[in-house]
Amino acid sequence: MGKIRVLPREVAGKIAAGEIIERPLSVVKELMENSLDASSNEILISVEDGGKKSIIVKDNGEGIEKEDLKIIFRRHSTSKIETVDDLEKILTFGFRGEAISSIAEVSKTTIISSTEGRDSSYGVYFFNGEMTFIDDAPYRKGTMVKVEDLFYNLPARKNFLRAAKTENLAIKNFIKHFSLVNEDVKISFISDEKESLFYERVQEKKDRFYQVYGKDKIYNDFFEAEFDRGEYSFHGFFVKPGLEEYKRYPQLIFINKRVVKEKTTFQAIYSGYDTYLKKGVKPGFIIFIDIPPDEVEVNIHPTKAEVKLKNSSEYFRILRAALRNELEGFFLDKSSSSLNLTDTKASSYNFPKKGWDGTNFNGNIRKPFFDDIRQEKKVDSNSFVQKEKTRNLLLEPPSDFKIIGQYINSYVIIEKEGKLLIIDQHNADERVKYEKLIDNRENSGIKQVKPLFPIVFEYKTDETTEEKIENLKKFGWDIEMWGENSLSVKLYPAIMDNRSIRDFIMEYLDSNEKDDIEDSILKLMSCKAAIKVNHPLAKEEMESLVKALFKTRNPYLCPHSRPIIVEFSEDFIKKELKRK
Ligand code: ADP
Ligand code: MG
Repeated sequence: MGKIRVLPREVAGKIAAGEIIERPLSVVKELMENSLDASSNEILISVEDGGKKSIIVKDNGEGIEKEDLKIIFRRHSTSKIETVDDLEKILTFGFRGEAISSIAEVSKTTIISSTEGRDSSYGVYFFNGEMTFIDDAPYRKGTMVKVEDLFYNLPARKNFLRAAKTENLAIKNFIKHFSLVNEDVKISFISDEKESLFYERVQEKKDRFYQVYGKDKIYNDFFEAEFDRGEYSFHGFFVKPGLEEYKRYPQLIFINKRVVKEKTTFQAIYSGYDTYLKKGVKPGFIIFIDIPPDEVEVNIHPTKAEVKLKNSSEYFRILRAALRNELEGFFLDKSSSSLNLTDTKASSYNFPKKGWDGTNFNGNIRKPFFDDIRQEKKVDSNSFVQKEKTRNLLLEPPSDFKIIGQYINSYVIIEKEGKLLIIDQHNADERVKYEKLIDNRENSGIKQVKPLFPIVFEYKTDETTEEKIENLKKFGWDIEMWGENSLSVKLYPAIMDNRSIRDFIMEYLDSNEKDDIEDSILKLMSCKAAIKVNHPLAKEEMESLVKALFKTRNPYLCPHSRPIIVEFSEDFIKKELKRK
């Protein structure tokens, strides 16, 4: 006789349910998401004993039709997908119609709902596989789900739950995260009859950010930034550069409104902060990212929040560059990039004015650091935020070229006025940087960066070193000799990055240039700072490079007089292809 048995339906159901509902947090999460799907703008969550005894989620959403309540406890019952064509949606949004049925399988579940209002509300109660109707169930428009005695029928799972305190904290954190992306929803959380969280509806993210983190006082350490880059748009709160003290700042990534774990975002942000934070200080950030859903690979396991991005290296570059820009701009134009709650329109909430107006760096920022930075001459229009704003306002005419792509990671191919152009990305950027340096020198001065800690490296000095170092002062550098064997860079021009600083100094100090020293310094700086060949570029990077190139006085020759562009006319191409 065969040994294989088909499991009874209840057992199979319990197994499946146990996979979706792991702990009280899973219940809260599923129910709150349902409330949101039902267009609620008010959600109340109440738990007892960390959710082990009871969980209630009430909303003011669309409600559930009486007819639908009859089948709601059946597995795979959902109103959110209709055809198999919607399978994509199942994967993206997790509409599988499994949450309610799973919850009901492992608890005593009551649902009371109304699509109209008090006069026509009804309810159902589900326990131990049996459904009972509740007729007299007065409820306003919306839905209330009550889940009692979670895992009463799965004792092993029940015993595995953590202490009520731990479960409670997990729920509380989830609600905070949920609230950050749903600032237009009023949210309250009650734990063992005590109010634990209460967020009034607000209009702007920064107001919700304040509601959530105001009490912890960490909001003072953050600035707000928003940037759109083609397909990707980012909005978030980032720890101000220069923070020294280690605090447990939140590090939260939301992709398309869901908290996720996503490696590339982490890496791009860490890499973006680089020298802007003291070594060992972890950057705090709460970033909201909008990406076309088809670029995100969602792990289809419903409770796992790990996702992967399809185009991750391009995404990495875009995010890192944008964040760098913000961090740099932070010192230049802090009024537009740091949070400014004094002009908030969210009137229903009383925000303290003190210490939150973007002018008052009293947090944990090392004072001298900021003062130094601010004393230096700056090109204000360079601030990213400012630039973006003006760009949007003026509605720049569309560019007169089209990026076709990049060839062997070294040449940008474009179409312009009917011609095909091949642009050497290094030479082009060299030209752009060279002219920028000259302009800045003549006008507002070369913008400088003060690293948090001097950058020290080994260099065997000789009798010419001191004078050469002195020459660099005019170009935004402040370098000191440390004995005979090392140099310490205290200030460097903002055009350089960490990697090019050392390259430049070494090559410059080793050179024996006698003629036109100043110009050769500028050329060498632009050469070292410029984008290298064999370096992949995102479309946005190519676009801004080409745009900047055509604004220079001589887009055809690099400062060392090497050509930048090769052009092919349509005639030439036709001839070659024997179309003429
Ligand atoms: P899914 O969300 O994947 O559709 P669920 O099991 O979470 O599956 O919910 C089943 C259905 O019950 C939903 O599709 C929706 O029609 C209805 N529903 C659940 N919760 C609510 C709610 N709070 N308000 C209105 N309808 C709800
Ligand atoms: Mg659901």
